[in-house]
Amino acid sequence: MSPGGHLITTAVAGAAVYAGTGSAALTAGLFAGGFLIDLDHVFDYVVFERQRDLRPSAFLRYYLEGRVRRAVLPLHSYEVLVLLALLAWLSDRDWLWGYVLGTALHLPLDIVFNGRLVPGGLVHFYSFACRARAGFLAERFADPSRLAPVEEGFWLSFFRGARLKSEAVSAGTAGVAPPLPAAVRGCEEA
Ligand SMILES: [Zn+2]
Repeated sequence: MSPGGHLITTAVAGAAVYAGTGSAALTAGLFAGGFLIDLDHVFDYVVFERQRDLRPSAFLRYYLEGRVRRAVLPLHSYEVLVLLALLAWLSDRDWLWGYVLGTALHLPLDIVFNGRLVPGGLVHFYSFACRARAGFLAERFADPSRLAPVEEGFWLSFFRGARLKSEAVSAGTAGVAPPLPAAVRGCEEA
């Protein structure tokens, strides 16, 4: 999902949780798990992609145009979510429960909205073990040539997110995705 989409859904969920519980810790944790979790991409961008252009617009464009080569994304993992849920259960910390709740909201939205751009979807992609087996190579999960170049300004793309070329052409109507190249083999060993 686009960062703006996550910001909106997290704000709505956070407001509901705060109204229902009055817990600032739970709400802050939810905001971190639901929105700040995307700092995972900044970590990858700097550490694994070795990109030095830290302007938000350059960073956003890099992702929305699918220029990513490595997708390590430790926080975007079922395994980490399960581990943190276990930790939250054992420690019973509100902020940690909030984080788990936020991530449990974030990942399904990523699966649905980002998976929409890839035939076969991205359910497997959000397993750390799966990405590791594929050598964390982004090309094993998606074909960036299908994504439309980002031509609009920062805030519009922040809320709109990545689009297929076919969508960009027929403005708004659901694009028919061309088949993936043979190189996209998901979790198979690299
Ligand atoms: Zn995400």
